[in-house]
Amino acid sequence: MTASRRPIRRLDAGTVERIAAGEVVERPASVVKELLENAIDAEASHIVVRIDGGGIERIEVADDGVGIPPAELALALERHATSKLEGPDGLDAIRTLGFRGEALAAVASVSHLRLVSRARGEEAATGLESIGGVVGEPFLSARAPGTTVTVARLFFNTPARRKFLRPPAREQLEVVDTVERSYLALPRVGLELSANGSELLRLPASADLGEAAAHVLGPEFAAASIEVHQVEGPRVRVEGCFARPEVSRGSARGLYLSVNGRPIVSRPFAQSVRVAYADRLPRTRFPVGVLHLELDPSKVDVNVHPTKREVRFEREAELLEVTRRAVRAALEGGGPANLPSAPRDRFSATAPALERPLPEFLAPPAPGHHTSPLQSRLDAPSTPPKVLGAGAGPELALLGVVGRLYWLAESGEDLLLLDQHAASERLLFAQLLGGTALAQQRLVSPVSVRLTPREAGALSEHSSLFRSAGFEVEEVGGGTWWVRGVPSYRGRIAPAEELPRLLAELADGGRPAVPDGLAERRAASVACHAAVRAGDRIEPEEMRRILDAVYRLPGAPSTCPHGRPIALRLPRSRLDRWFGRSGI
Ligand code: ADP
Ligand code: MG
Repeated sequence: MTASRRPIRRLDAGTVERIAAGEVVERPASVVKELLENAIDAEASHIVVRIDGGGIERIEVADDGVGIPPAELALALERHATSKLEGPDGLDAIRTLGFRGEALAAVASVSHLRLVSRARGEEAATGLESIGGVVGEPFLSARAPGTTVTVARLFFNTPARRKFLRPPAREQLEVVDTVERSYLALPRVGLELSANGSELLRLPASADLGEAAAHVLGPEFAAASIEVHQVEGPRVRVEGCFARPEVSRGSARGLYLSVNGRPIVSRPFAQSVRVAYADRLPRTRFPVGVLHLELDPSKVDVNVHPTKREVRFEREAELLEVTRRAVRAALEGGGPANLPSAPRDRFSATAPALERPLPEFLAPPAPGHHTSPLQSRLDAPSTPPKVLGAGAGPELALLGVVGRLYWLAESGEDLLLLDQHAASERLLFAQLLGGTALAQQRLVSPVSVRLTPREAGALSEHSSLFRSAGFEVEEVGGGTWWVRGVPSYRGRIAPAEELPRLLAELADGGRPAVPDGLAERRAASVACHAAVRAGDRIEPEEMRRILDAVYRLPGAPSTCPHGRPIALRLPRSRLDRWFGRSGI
């Protein structure tokens, strides 16, 4: 990013004081992030990342950037020494990703670090090794121009921090996420990631944001993507690539935001993108896509957060509005004509006449939200409908199905409406949490699915949950898996294509709308994917079995795991009043 390399210098005391202090090394992914930033600042065009044991054992980042001259190598490992800030006003308009001169020192102090670099124009490479921050003598080495930093035994001397690390598979997922976020913030720099010797990501340098996004977000995204055309605001340039509403996520993690090539998290920006999608996505779903903001570096303060993930904007409200409009225009231009006629059309622009076409009822509501508009219109009791409690069971008679979704039943003299998806989901959820494996259907011939590295990571992390859910998979290699068995439940066979969607959701931590713990959120994800759907045709016999099983659940739950009601009871007295029979 720097036009030409400047020497590394110690920052003056005044500048050091203005730097947002805090821990920059929390986990392997934060090390990878800092090393990637350094390589990018060094004008690398291609960066190779290798990790072992989730990055806890070893991280290596090699670049083809400008390198560090031998005389400055030791300074690179010193705290508050940087080549990136010039003069007392340097902090006011930061043009590089790094600027504090403390990352390498911080990483070196908690690991075995090896820095080998060959500056452009030098004949050989020079190296330094540090153990817990104690730096040894320089040595000569060989490598093409560029820099390699190897970080081994992270937190070897700080057991307390090591204890907070998660299992290697989980840390590895964070590294994958970090590399992908870096790439999508600046796709002109190619990235490769391998873990324990096998390749996870190959993200080629690209000038085309849509193409780059497809590498990370997969074919499902590519098929549904729309371009956010460059908008030249008075102070900002916005560019992006988003998925149409039919491809969405259960959390905000599918949104890749960046400012001037720096990946950031920003609730306000995430919110403005969501607002652009507002009437096209159910409330619990989040848009997927990439958004680039480019603005004058003096108008954005990156020195507010130790890891620089959060930034502050001058006149933020204006930028948010430009963003919302740009995404909205893309969605409108991307057009209803392209939308498939899946049930999700209910949430899309193809149903403009209905202001809110029942999404509250079909989509899981936000946590704590238990009543749907339909329910309140029917003036149901304000407490969650309690249909499945003791006493309701024996005399329950099934009458029929409405719209292949709601079952009509008679309980005593009352009328019951049950949601077939919610009921079956609750049942599967209870089974999974209770450790019971769900039924499986072996496929006659295996179905091949392609998984992104993120999805593959989730697969290895949750392999036992998948097995108990009924999935049977086999790795073929090259990002492809065979699905040999799928969940089969009460007459419904989950399609193999469910697998990548479920994996993406698990990688995000499972259903966010489930208020309980992580295990519950994951079980809820699996249950939801395996459960009977709206539109599935269920044999009466199967309906009976689902009902009986739901009755027998301890605690007589009245909602699905997301808190959506399973059933609605219309008491006889209510019916009588409607039909003007009360008092007769
Ligand atoms: P900062 O990036 O904030 O300057 P770091 O501690 O991360 O601080 O790095 C210190 C210095 O070491 C950088 O300013 C840069 O001059 C040099 N450096 C670090 N990594 C690289 C690299 N991969 N290629 C070239 N120079 C590097
Ligand atoms: Mg740095």
